[in-house]
Amino acid sequence: MKLVDGKVALVTGAGSGIGKAIAVLYAKEGAKVVVNDISAENGKLVVEQIKANGGEAFFIKADTSDEKEVELLIRQTVEKYGRLDIACNNAGIGGEQNLTADYSSESWNKVININLNGVFFGCKYELEQMEKNGGGVIVNMASIHGTVAAPMSSAYTAAKHAVVGLTKNIGAEYGQKNIRCNSVGPGYIETPLLEALSPEMLKDLKAKHPMNRLGTAEEVAELVLFLSSDKSSFITGGYYLIDGGYTAV
Ligand code: NAD
Repeated sequence: MKLVDGKVALVTGAGSGIGKAIAVLYAKEGAKVVVNDISAENGKLVVEQIKANGGEAFFIKADTSDEKEVELLIRQTVEKYGRLDIACNNAGIGGEQNLTADYSSESWNKVININLNGVFFGCKYELEQMEKNGGGVIVNMASIHGTVAAPMSSAYTAAKHAVVGLTKNIGAEYGQKNIRCNSVGPGYIETPLLEALSPEMLKDLKAKHPMNRLGTAEEVAELVLFLSSDKSSFITGGYYLIDGGYTAV
């Protein structure tokens, strides 16, 4: 049996990388998927890929750091598919690399606006809709840097720690409303987000994972699917690492 058959699922930042893999897997497992991204070109390609595989998907452009756009995204999702059962707040950026004292306020605000405020805006309007539906599931994309430092990326570390905390609060507040909310903490994953890194840096990064490799977006998508499905029916407010052992040492 398909794990999310007939459900309506939204994935933000689904035009690339981890979000794309989640959207493709949700569709393969029977969901009707709203693919969101700021890039219409990439988002539409993902919709085409899902449809070519026999799935159902629809693209909605929105910048998740803009509250009004997120409110509209949820409204348009419901206009298209009638309800919202599953949401994965995945959109995020790496941001500036610098020591904290040298980190520009502009970059700080940009990373916090997308990686934290965007997740909050998503949760806020998703929860409102899920309460109307009588239930739902949210998965927020954190990172290993929701629990350990990413030196030179203080805004990223701060935002991801905050996503873990926000997720715990939602788990606590909505436990009796048939809405579950969890976050995931991937180690370094082979996606375009890491394209800027030199081969030397990639080698060093791999070595920080006891499995001595990067993860794949598809591996992360499998965990997100589990947390989005009824297989995880007693799991809420949690933070689940998928990091090849990075945080074990
Ligand atoms: P990616 O760059 O491949 O994909 C991110 C997507 O989000 C892009 O399509 C981009 O256009 C979109 N996006 C960016 N800002 C947006 C906004 N404001 N509104 C809507 N869409 C927006 O990156 P990825 O590696 O797939 O990262 C996805 C998530 O996973 C991020 O939250 C990231 O922090 C997290 N993550 C990534 C890694 C990794 O190593 N790649 C590890 C842990 C966590």
